[in-house]
Formats: sequence, structure tokens, C-alpha cells
Amino acid sequence: TANQETHGFQTEVKQLLQLMIHSLYSNKEIFLRELVSNAADAADKLRFKVLSNPSLYENDSDLCVKLSADKEAGTITISDNGIGMNKEDVIEHLGTIAKSGTKEFFNNLSGDQSKDSQLIGQFGVGFYSAFIVADNVIVRSRAAGDSADKGVQWESAGEGEFTVTDIEKADRGTEIVLHLRKDEKEFADDWRLRSIVTKYSEHIGIPVKMWKEEVPESDGPDGEKIPAQPGEWESVNKASALWTRDKSEISEEEYNEFYKHVSHDFADPLMHAHNKVEGKTEYTSLLYIPSKAPFDMWNRDQNHGLKLYVQRVFIMDDAEQFMPVYLRFVKGLLDSNDLPLNVSREILQDNKVTQAIRQGCTKRVLQMLERLAKNDAEKYQSFWKEFGAVLKEGPAEDFANKEKVAGLLRFASTHNDSDAQTVSLEDYIGRMKDGQEKIYFITADSYQAAKSSPHLEIFRKKGIEVLLMGDRIDEWLMSHLTEFNEKSFQSVARGALDLGDLEDEESKKEQEEAEKAVEGVLERVKTALGDKVVDVKFTHRLTDSPACIVTDEQGMSTQMIKLMQSAGQ
Ligand code: ADP
Ligand code: MG
Repeated sequence: TANQETHGFQTEVKQLLQLMIHSLYSNKEIFLRELVSNAADAADKLRFKVLSNPSLYENDSDLCVKLSADKEAGTITISDNGIGMNKEDVIEHLGTIAKSGTKEFFNNLSGDQSKDSQLIGQFGVGFYSAFIVADNVIVRSRAAGDSADKGVQWESAGEGEFTVTDIEKADRGTEIVLHLRKDEKEFADDWRLRSIVTKYSEHIGIPVKMWKEEVPESDGPDGEKIPAQPGEWESVNKASALWTRDKSEISEEEYNEFYKHVSHDFADPLMHAHNKVEGKTEYTSLLYIPSKAPFDMWNRDQNHGLKLYVQRVFIMDDAEQFMPVYLRFVKGLLDSNDLPLNVSREILQDNKVTQAIRQGCTKRVLQMLERLAKNDAEKYQSFWKEFGAVLKEGPAEDFANKEKVAGLLRFASTHNDSDAQTVSLEDYIGRMKDGQEKIYFITADSYQAAKSSPHLEIFRKKGIEVLLMGDRIDEWLMSHLTEFNEKSFQSVARGALDLGDLEDEESKKEQEEAEKAVEGVLERVKTALGDKVVDVKFTHRLTDSPACIVTDEQGMSTQMIKLMQSAGQ
């Protein structure tokens, strides 16, 4: 037709399509979850817009998804009366991927199919998952508030391109028709669709309806007439917002599926916490810790935060005000009774209710982690591997919870000679020598560098444990962490080394004698180095190496200097 345009998919979309079709074959049915999830999001967005513009309902406020199959044609149709899309929306949302870091993500794929299919799960496949089962997809949509002639049709075979055509569409919302691939025709079956919906979409916020055929009039057992029943659209899911239900009625599986809807993640979460808080501020929170870090977690500006509802009405995604940045890996939602429905990001910014909820949610997450660490060390390790380095930002950001966060930290140490970060500060303190007052640590560029530092010699000799810190963030962490359980931290590379009560009389005497013997050497080295050093001192902290460089207690550590240099300062 005259008004048909052809567009190419963004390169990353092409890659995603390729990868998805080849790696998700064992999990095909998730396409329906993704499409229903989008319809539910579209309903949420419309409900929100209606708050300020009721006319958008166009006399149709019964928001739902309708699902039908045509066995003969081999098609499935999913239609919603949500917010809809106009032409620009369609080109943008169904032709590109809007996530930050997408390019990097695709550049980093290994080419190993099983590994990549794991990754693709974390990335989230969304709308494009339709092409797992379909070789032709047609989307017809019309945005709420637009006139019927502003409809748009999008069509693609999922290869390089898609077409967009202007159409008339009387009903608001989006209709998606999947032409199933030859081997996937089995999905065009009412019973099959029903069971997938119950499995994946039981608790999304809107009803998923399927057509129930009319039942003709019939004869009852005693010859009486049983009246005919007209056909009708019947809801096949519970459609109660999961978080409003009682914990005890919700199975692990339901929590997991709901997680996938709110997080766009593909894998099960590691754990969740579901709480109704009553009292001064009233809210319900449903918080999840993912099992894998998202590909863009290092980006502190990446979208994060909770889905915000006010009195069950969806308000916004990524409300980052309710979670500190160092807990940015937490997913989930929040339903408040105290915030106004017209709340905006600006209002949230500086708001007592926000602060109270943020404190509450932060506490929940820390508690959940504390419990996990206590009850399931192995699972905690898997959490730590994924998110430990993010949690290390905590002591700098969250003064009030410093001690709590510190209790959750794990380090490598000279105690177990492995780069695995498994030692807690509590473990360390439990192993401190008689007379030891400080928690000793060393920071370096890597675990290897920390481990082979000459500063450790004396500690090794005396059997004193030292925490070995080789992560980038460690220096930053240790500049904000001064004590734990009333024990102060001491870098073994800084200042004078006073082992206090850990020294015995005999070795003190030996040291004094040794110091006398090298007096002349010190002077000569000092003269030779001149301005390059502040001082040259005799030390007994080395046992094998002849010399080492130390920063004074006030100065920036060598590690920090390197960090600043690499940041261009
Ligand atoms: P995500 O849901 O994570 O944003 P998707 O790939 O599932 O990613 O969807 C991409 C975008 O397409 C959505 O964010 C939304 O803007 C739009 N979209 C998809 N399906 C619908 C729909 N049924 N109604 C309105 N918009 C939709
Ligand atoms: Mg989606």
C-alpha cells in the first residue's frame, strides 16, 4: 500500500533475534508470558494516565487481555485495551532496544550457545520472544486518546526488517497476531494457552480472558430443560495483584513467576521478602534479590529502583528513591497508602514518607541478607559473588547502617590462602590473637598483589591474619570503614607498625640491636633518595625483603594514588 514504510531493525535487535531463536528452544512458552506481561504494563500505564485525563477510557474501563487461538490458521491473537502505541512508538519500541549498555552486552557475548543463552535470560527478551514460535508477527495498535484513523500496523518475519502501515483501528490498545512456525502449531490450542497462562501469568494485575463457547440447551437427568449458556469471555487467571494477598497463600513458584514479570529477568530470583507494614507509614513491599547480576550493574546511572504503586494503582517504574544506590540490584515493588496518586519523581525526592519507606526497605534487605548469611552460607556466597562488590559501596553511602553492612562483607584473607571472599569480620575477630587489638588488612591492585606484598612478612611470621583486598572498590571502602565491633582497622602498609602486646620482650631486644647495626646505612639511603621520600626508617616488619615503601598515617595510600591517577586526577 501507499503508506507502507520499511525499516531495518537496530543491529542489536537482529542479534537478539538470532540468539533467542537458537537458544531458547527449551523454554519456548515464555513468549506468552512476555506478551501478557507487556499487556499488563500497558494497562498499568493507561490507568496512571487516566488519573489526570479520565476521557482516555473512551467508555471502556474494563482493562483486560484477550487471548485466542485459531487452530486451522495456526495463529494466536493477544489483544489488550491498554495504553496502545502510535506510529513513532511502534518504530521505536518494536525496532530497537532501549536499555543502556545494550551494545556492550552484545559485544561481550562469547559465541558459546549455552553460556550466551544464560546471559540472554538476564538481558530479558521481551516482545521479541514472539519470534521464538512465530515466523510472522503482526501488531495493530492505536494509542489511547488518538482517533481511530491514527492506528498503525507493524509486521515482521523477524529477520532484518519490519514494515509499518497506517490503519484504521476503532478499539484502543494493541493486538498481536502470531503466525506460528511449522513446528510450533501445537500452541494454537485453547487448552495449551490456558495452562501456560496459569503457569506464568496467574498474578499479573489484569484478567487474561479466553472465549468460552456457548453451551446449547440440553435435557437434564429428570427430563427438565437445562438452559443454553451464551458464549462469553472468561477470565483464566486470578488477576489479583500478588502482593495484596496473604503470604501464607502464595507459593514459592508464584513468587518466582511474579518476579519475572516485575524484573524482566528470566531466571528465578535468589530470594524474596514480602511485607505489609502498618503504623505511621503504611505500605506493602515485595523485594527480590536476583540470582545473577544484570549486565549493566556497574553503571551507577543504570535504571534501578522499585516499581511504585499507590493504593494498587501503578505509578512508575524504577522509583530509585526507595533504595540506596548500593542496593541497586534489588528488584520488586512498593505499594504505598500514604503517597498521593499524583506523586511525581520531584515530589518523591524530598518527602518524609519516601524517607520512612526507604529506611524500612533498606532494613528489610539487610535483614534478609543477614538471615541468608546465617542460615545458608553457600547461598550467601553465591549472592556475594554476584553483588558483593556493590554492597561494598554501602559503608560510604549509608552511615546509619554502616555496622550492619560491614557485618555482611566478605574478604579473602591470609587465613585460607584463596582468592575466594569468604571471611567475615566476625570470623576474623574470632580468630584474633591474644593481645591483638586491630583488624589488619592490605589493599592492592589484585588479590595476587595483596597476597605477595612484603608488608605481610611479619604477620605471616607471627601467625596474625590479614585481610587481603584486591578489588577496585576496596580502597574506597576502607577509607569509610574505621571500625567494626569496636575493633579498629589498620592497614599493614600504612604508618608505624605497632604490634603492641603482640611483641615479646626478646624480639624487641633483638630489634634494638639490629637497628643500631644499620644506623649508618639509613643515613646513606636518605642522602641518596633526597626529596623523593619523607623519611627512611628501620623496620622489623620485613623478614625476607630488604625494603618496602610505606605511606604515613595521614597521607593517601599508594593504592588510592593509583586509583586517582587512573581516574585522570
Ligand atoms: P519491556 O517490556 O522490558 O520494556 P519489551 O520488549 O517487552 O520490553 O517491550 C518493549 C516496549 O514496547 C515496551 O516497553 C512498550 O513501550 C512497548 N509495548 C510492547 N507491548 C506493548 C503493548 N501491548 N501495549 C503498549 N506498548 C507495548
Ligand atoms: Mg516486556
